[in-house]
Amino acid sequence: MDFEQIQNLAYIGASILFILGIKMLGRADTARRGNRLSSVGMLVAVLATVAGQVSRGEMHWGMVIAGLVLGGGIGLVSARKVAMTGMPELVALFNGFGGLGSLLVGWAEVARNPEMMTFTECAVWATLLIGGITFTGSMVAWAKLAGKMGGSAVIFSGQKLINAALFIALLVCGGMWISCGCSQYLYAIIGLAMLLGILAVIPIGGGDMPVVIAFLNSFSGLAAAAAGFVIANNVLIVAGCLVGTSGLILTVIMCKAMNRTLGNVLFGGFGASSSSSSAVEGEMKALSVEDAYYVLEAARNVVFVPGYGMAVAQAQHAVKELGELLAENGAEVRYAIHPVAGRMPGHMNVLLAEADVAYEQLCEMDDVNPTMEMVDVAIVVGANDVVNPAALDDESSPIYGMPIINVHEAQTVFALKRGKGAGFSGLVNALFFRENTRMIYGDAKETITGLVTQFKE
Ligand code: NDP
Repeated sequence: MDFEQIQNLAYIGASILFILGIKMLGRADTARRGNRLSSVGMLVAVLATVAGQVSRGEMHWGMVIAGLVLGGGIGLVSARKVAMTGMPELVALFNGFGGLGSLLVGWAEVARNPEMMTFTECAVWATLLIGGITFTGSMVAWAKLAGKMGGSAVIFSGQKLINAALFIALLVCGGMWISCGCSQYLYAIIGLAMLLGILAVIPIGGGDMPVVIAFLNSFSGLAAAAAGFVIANNVLIVAGCLVGTSGLILTVIMCKAMNRTLGNVLFGGFGASSSSSSAVEGEMKALSVEDAYYVLEAARNVVFVPGYGMAVAQAQHAVKELGELLAENGAEVRYAIHPVAGRMPGHMNVLLAEADVAYEQLCEMDDVNPTMEMVDVAIVVGANDVVNPAALDDESSPIYGMPIINVHEAQTVFALKRGKGAGFSGLVNALFFRENTRMIYGDAKETITGLVTQFKE
């Protein structure tokens, strides 16, 4: 067996590990192993590729090790340092650099091999186009999420026309470069693609950024797949296609969970103007931790509904402890998770898994909603939009039609939040004014810890 055959076998093995890993990511109890399996697949792919380069004398091990240490070091430090609430920003940065990496691969290949075939030139064009859009688009998404620039949608007249003109210019420049090979067209493609990335993302409101990040994640995969065609690397094509399709599936799931179309997210300008909805009547009724304890002590069916506030407060461990105490007290305890609770897909699943909440206790929205009338107490831990009944009954609300967790149908609702602040969409939540809702003000972790102390006493 020659080296190329061994390399291809390693690529097939790596691709199988990627696919198995992604499959395992679908369940919370196997997700960690799946992640590790995919990482091993990536290590196999990188080593097989690098060994080929080194054996042909195109690269030295010293360069490879320096790159691994530098890149791995930056990745390790940033992943360790990032707070759970900052994860979407980190993913945006990683996507952006993935796109830039593919762009550089395409550009470097042109410098290395000026006599390439037309098919490879088309692949280079696709790599520069998708990589450039992904890089600058992700940087804008990161800046919006990290508060480095305003989160509202930036809309101006003729915006869509300008974007369409830019795309046509990219097609023309691609055609010119392929026919004459003049490098100024290559630079024009890179510049225009980067400009298009910025202009395509600024009209999208900060509220939709997590969806955009999933979409750009899909783009970074496509850029990698295109780069795979440029350098004829099979495993890069496979891995790129896997990222491209899984990112797209995730984008569609998120759009569905918000009852929006992808077109509406990308071109709807959601968040350009301040949201309006019907005025809410009534008053919010506060409850002390001590009084809440007496209600919980008698409860036989309790559902926790975590939201972004649980991530901010890092209350997941305290929530799990309270859940255990309630169960010891004879209550059935479940955790209802809305698909877009928090700031990224699976945000709540990750936090609850970190606190070792049993997988069987996690319920999806569609499973918990039909049972809500039997719930004695629904404890809303820093969730707001995902439990706002205006989504069901207020046609003037911007979130009308978004599926929610129907906690308002429970016998009693405890809403844990610090103050009267609105949810992510900026809307006042009608739930907090309902007869069966009691507000327990304060940081969610402190409130839950207070309840735990009451139970222990
Ligand atoms: P929201 O952002 O709507 O509300 C979070 C609430 O948490 C706020 O009302 C805030 O109130 C409260 N809060 C913040 N810090 C604390 C704390 N330390 N202790 C207690 N409460 C706290 O969260 P949801 O999870 O309900 O909704 C997610 C939103 O994000 C939805 O609008 C969704 O569409 C959007 N989104 C999510 C995506 C995802 O992938 N998950 C993707 C795209 C959008 P107060 O300030 O008064 O404490």
